[in-house]
Amino acid sequence: MGDIKKIAIANRGEVAVRIIRACQELGLESVLLHSKADINSRAYRMSDAQICIGDSPVGESYLSIERNIDGALAAGADAVHPGFGFLSENADFAQALQDANIDFIGPSPEAIRTMGDKIAAKKIIAKANVPSVPGYNGADQSPEALAKEAEKIGYPVIVKAAAGGGGRGMKVIVDSTSAIEMIAAAKREGLSAFGSDQVFLEKYLNRAKHIEVQIFGDLSGNVVHLFDRECSVQRRHQKIIEEAVSGSISHELRSKMTDAAVKLAKAVKYVGAGTVEFLVQDDEFYFLEMNTRLQVEHPVTELVLGVDLVKAQILNQMNRFNVWEQDLLIPRGHAIECRLYAEDPFSVGMPSTGTIGFQSWPDAPGRRFDYGYEAGDAVTPFYDSMMAKIIVWDETRSRAISKMLKTLDETILFGVKSNIPFLKQILSHPEFVDGSFNTQFINQHFAEGAIPFNNSDQVSAIGEMCIDKIADVAPGSQSFKSPWAQSWSNT
Ligand code: ADP
Repeated sequence: MGDIKKIAIANRGEVAVRIIRACQELGLESVLLHSKADINSRAYRMSDAQICIGDSPVGESYLSIERNIDGALAAGADAVHPGFGFLSENADFAQALQDANIDFIGPSPEAIRTMGDKIAAKKIIAKANVPSVPGYNGADQSPEALAKEAEKIGYPVIVKAAAGGGGRGMKVIVDSTSAIEMIAAAKREGLSAFGSDQVFLEKYLNRAKHIEVQIFGDLSGNVVHLFDRECSVQRRHQKIIEEAVSGSISHELRSKMTDAAVKLAKAVKYVGAGTVEFLVQDDEFYFLEMNTRLQVEHPVTELVLGVDLVKAQILNQMNRFNVWEQDLLIPRGHAIECRLYAEDPFSVGMPSTGTIGFQSWPDAPGRRFDYGYEAGDAVTPFYDSMMAKIIVWDETRSRAISKMLKTLDETILFGVKSNIPFLKQILSHPEFVDGSFNTQFINQHFAEGAIPFNNSDQVSAIGEMCIDKIADVAPGSQSFKSPWAQSWSNT
């Protein structure tokens, strides 16, 4: 902890670019720790220095603690920013950096370790009287005993790896017939992906919304919340579209959730940016987990609050940051983020690889493009297929939806297929427009991915309903009834 002049970035793609931008604005040097595949990448070209830490497969580069530490030492870096994914929630990495006298831009290894164990996190939050999803997290880990507990909870039940993350290591069990096999499979998956076969069970809430609270802690022990994001548009438990702030919770519920998140962060002496995730069903909220890092969807919070979370993380690490005053953090307008994936939109997210021939981001007021690839760069099969994020801000949710649709329409991308047609159908769906969607939304309406254009009846039905609703929100219109438009239009 102290002065930082040079930051090594243990990540790639658009988040590496985001961190490089923050370094540039703060007058700090950035060093990209990259794999062989990423020599042709925007982050490579933008960083001040680059160190190749290994081959393209993640195990030989981005997921290797040793190679990243060696890279950071070779770079002479004072600190490492881990971004999200890869080693960002790895307590051993944070510890190894500390041992090498290099700052980890994030919380302490202890806080990461405690929160990375979802069962331990639930125990801490229970002490603060915050409810978790009801279930079983006891010591008896035999598949047979767990299946009995599942029966007691009542199906559907979700089995999760205690050390899991990123939507992996989870299985939904709908009845007793396959319970034992599914639990055994979840344990095997947990062991191979996360090094632990410990699992726990939760009641599967099948009408829930995913709403999370951004928190930030400074080195003096002050913790504030930066309101919430709604991330209920998910495919296979992974987010696709996120918004700030959620329009589906009452003022009272928001207060309870933000209070709970701050209490949890204080209980683990949390430092830096973190996110407390909840499920909300029937006006009740349930703790899911805490992510001890920057989230993919952090830009929507930045846009509605006018903050820069990445610069705040870096300055905080340098002990040059006084956390924002809670009362001065007031969300204004509405922000939406779409994750742009290189994939076939019509076949359930089949990744699409290739070289970007040409791309054009249609810049205009209230639009932000966080991207990691440029023309000539290859999208390879080695990494996650998220190429970029498109984020928009406008004064009301309805206008933000319209702006996002227009932005996606004007975005040009040659060389790989993208999920733009899928995103446009989601944004135009009446349940998305009126805000009634929950985490089952994709499963219920787009189980096969985007609806092919030759199925024109369905597509135009979606479009028409959307146009009706959005047209209602012309400035001054009295007819629009959505609380999402009303609660924020006058702030
Ligand atoms: P991960 O750490 O892998 O992201 P989470 O526990 O955060 O896993 O859950 C990811 C998503 O999975 C949630 O946003 C939600 O859609 C779904 N999910 C998790 N637990 C439950 C549950 N008990 N009931 C319903 N959906 C759940």
